[in-house]
Amino acid sequence: MNELANQAQDLKLMRRCFELARHATHDGELPFGAVVARKGEIIAEAANRVSREGDITRHAELVAISEAQRVLGRKRLCDCVLYSVVEPCPMCSFASRETRIGRVVFALNSPLMGGCSKWDVLSNESLSGKLPEVFGAVPEIVSGFCLQEGEQIWNEWNPFIWHFMKRRGCFGVTADAALHRTKAPHQGISWKTFTTLLAWPVLSATRTMARRNQVQP
Ligand SMILES: [Zn+2]
Repeated sequence: MNELANQAQDLKLMRRCFELARHATHDGELPFGAVVARKGEIIAEAANRVSREGDITRHAELVAISEAQRVLGRKRLCDCVLYSVVEPCPMCSFASRETRIGRVVFALNSPLMGGCSKWDVLSNESLSGKLPEVFGAVPEIVSGFCLQEGEQIWNEWNPFIWHFMKRRGCFGVTADAALHRTKAPHQGISWKTFTTLLAWPVLSATRTMARRNQVQP
């Protein structure tokens, strides 16, 4: 397959991640979405299920990886590609390494929480160098793919929170610079307020459901 066809394939699969992420926000989740594909075909796909299941291990990437293993009936995913809206966290990166995923493609960097740009898990050579029986080689990593569309998903979800997340250096290619800017002596939003804002869509959805249950006979 030539380079142009590869890019078209990546684009199609990343856009599926965006769809999953956008849809998940209607269910009170943060806009995360992931796809595991092999030879351009989707093996498994998932959005975050953290809020719906009350389980912090239900990250989109982990759910998709787990489902891909189930579908293929094997632990190793060497011939698979993981697509994700956001750079996988250390937890998901560890799973990626242990399943030996061959390639990881994501839109938004995560300089504060990422398993590559912050914590050296996805790209750590000593893992596979010293324990090749357990960990796969460092996968090919493509970051910043469809970056603007990825940012748009988060901005559509909540422009206010997205603004603060960028300023805090959580996501995006400019996040590093933003992180340094937050060190300037200015009054910022408190962490408690920030997390309350993050939880607002979930709380809102819960209250709406509670109200619906009350009005039903
Ligand atoms: Zn994760």
